[in-house]
Amino acid sequence: MAYQPQVVDAKIVSRNPKNGLFEIVAQLKDRTVCRLIYGKDAEGATVPTHINRLLKEPCPICRKDFLCNCMSKFKSEISSQALELAGTP
Ligand SMILES: [Zn+2]
Repeated sequence: MAYQPQVVDAKIVSRNPKNGLFEIVAQLKDRTVCRLIYGKDAEGATVPTHINRLLKEPCPICRKDFLCNCMSKFKSEISSQALELAGTP
């Protein structure tokens, strides 16, 4: 079955009003914690540029407890849920 991330909590942890960049830490239902980094695209729209899994729990997809890239496949999914909870600064 495909992984279906479910964001249960999200907070804006840093932001830079000068360039519009900000970061959200999102907690998923399976205890995975991700940091999302947002920037602006050429039209000035907010876009998630990076997602990193914080190394608190093993990866829910590959089970590694070190860096992997699994979450990048779910970047837009996790990002849209996180923005709903945390809002945009
Ligand atoms: Zn993984």
